[in-house]
Amino acid sequence: MHQVVIVGSGAAGVAAALELTESGIKPLILDVGHTQHTDIPRVEGNLYDYRKQHDTFDLLIGKDFQNYSNLFTGDTVPVKLTSPYAEYITHAAQTVSPIDNEGFYAIQSFAIGGLANAWGAGLYRYNDQDLEGFPIRAKELNSFFDKLTQEIGISGDEDDLAPFFGSTKSLLPPIKLSYNANRVYQNYQRGKGRYQAHGFFMGLPRVGVLTEGRNGRSACDYSNLEFWQELPYIYVPKMTLEKLITAGKVDYKKGIFVERWSESTEGIRINAVTVDGNHSTSFHCKRLVLAAGAINTAKIVLNSFQDYQTRLALLENPAFQIPIFLPTSFGRRLDANSFGLVQLNLVWKSDAFNCLLQGSVMETTSPMRGVFYDKFPLAARTNLELIKYILPATLIMQLYLPASSQSPSRLSLQRSGRLYIQGNPNNIDIRKMRDMFRFLRMLGAWSFPFLVFRVPTGHAIHYAGTLPMREVSGLYECDVNGKLFGTQNVYIADSSTFPNLPAKNMGLTSMANAMRVANKVANQINNVG
Ligand SMILES: Cc1cc2nc3c(=O)[nH]c(=O)nc-3n(C[C@H](O)[C@H](O)[C@H](O)COP(=O)(O)OP(=O)(O)OC[C@H]3O[C@@H](n4cnc5c(N)ncnc54)[C@H](O)[C@@H]3O)c2cc1C
Repeated sequence: MHQVVIVGSGAAGVAAALELTESGIKPLILDVGHTQHTDIPRVEGNLYDYRKQHDTFDLLIGKDFQNYSNLFTGDTVPVKLTSPYAEYITHAAQTVSPIDNEGFYAIQSFAIGGLANAWGAGLYRYNDQDLEGFPIRAKELNSFFDKLTQEIGISGDEDDLAPFFGSTKSLLPPIKLSYNANRVYQNYQRGKGRYQAHGFFMGLPRVGVLTEGRNGRSACDYSNLEFWQELPYIYVPKMTLEKLITAGKVDYKKGIFVERWSESTEGIRINAVTVDGNHSTSFHCKRLVLAAGAINTAKIVLNSFQDYQTRLALLENPAFQIPIFLPTSFGRRLDANSFGLVQLNLVWKSDAFNCLLQGSVMETTSPMRGVFYDKFPLAARTNLELIKYILPATLIMQLYLPASSQSPSRLSLQRSGRLYIQGNPNNIDIRKMRDMFRFLRMLGAWSFPFLVFRVPTGHAIHYAGTLPMREVSGLYECDVNGKLFGTQNVYIADSSTFPNLPAKNMGLTSMANAMRVANKVANQINNVG
């Protein structure tokens, strides 16, 4: 009988495991745990230097045309996940756990380390305002934020966003800005009093990116390789997991798909199947911590209660992608020595939307030029010709709204065992962005409403809220310690428990909350046994 079993090795599962091990508890982690199985070339140096000397087909397209796999299936896929190296992250997801989606585009990962293997590592602390509707306050998360900042290595700065992003304790120096991002930031600095009066605040991102080498990991080398291979300077939770496994602090069992649990006075029995042979198997534990991601944790819970009726709410941040052009950079050479992900953050206290929005301004230097090919409204040949000149003058902003800006999607379990998710289309009113376009123009950066891309519901990949934590919990809710209503010893550690999603990437807060839940579990074990 294991003392604690954790299901899932994503950001939440790993954070929970880390906290348990610090209390002297060795959990068993059950995971599907797909790993990289294709041979992708490893690039040393800079993407653009490599391209001059090597054929890049295997790196960028993939031996099995991985980068074009969505062309054959017709699926829309976030660009980073079309990279050949990223294939294992979403590998066989529809086979392992099929979902029937309507108006929702679910992205599932059954990889060791989960979705975070592809993340942009934008890692932000929720503050009290973000935690509105949660039964906890930021002070209950702060010590875990501090621990994670040390474990991960987060870079950032004490700037105009510190009031929104929280403590700067232990932050590494910020990333070096690209040419275009630096221009935008300097223009913001010159007029920031005026911009802030209109609700616009800009600063450097908090990213899990090393700007100084540490613990054997090298610092960011501005090689633009972020889309094409795992990089030692971008933190992924798998790094912590591998460290814990090597130190013998956790038991990790992959190839296991957990279906349900049942609880008795003897403890908890977990029913699972092996992924390779679909053979039934079971595990026993005193306490079960579910961290399979908001969608799959909900599935395990519904399946354990044999409930085929309930339609659980599923939250996500509606998002826009906004191309931004800097006319003064037209015709420049592409900035071949930059960090290819988020460069700047924007917080917009918007009267038009009546809420706080958060944007990540990203470089376009890492993805393939072809990604932008159909984004311009001209003839194919003209688009192709134009991209050469326009791309070096282009940044992309991903702008998030709070989940409350649209009705939640609904998730239920069908008798066939397949999940069904019904979403609402992202129909947020773009006309409310007028002030944003005006602000950008004042920064010397242009954009237009017809170029704004509404991210399809499901593709912001911030899933939450299926089993919300409440002061007083009811069916399909958790208490403040993450314990699931109606159970004795089943805890939910991932973002399923978030009753709200503010417009802020949730990864770091989800990890900190998983540690908080694990800490409660550890205290209980150490007090009760
Ligand atoms: C391209 C991209 C960019 C992103 N950028 C950011 C960002 O910049 N900042 C940010 O905060 N977030 C970002 N995210 C979102 C972030 O990665 C996720 O919110 C987070 O990783 C979710 O972690 P999780 O542990 O809740 O679940 P997951 O990552 O989904 O992990 C689930 C784990 O559970 C296992 N599992 C699932 N079901 C079962 C089962 N039945 N039995 C056994 N094991 C199971 C899986 O194998 C996996 O290990 C991004 C995501 C993507 C894809």
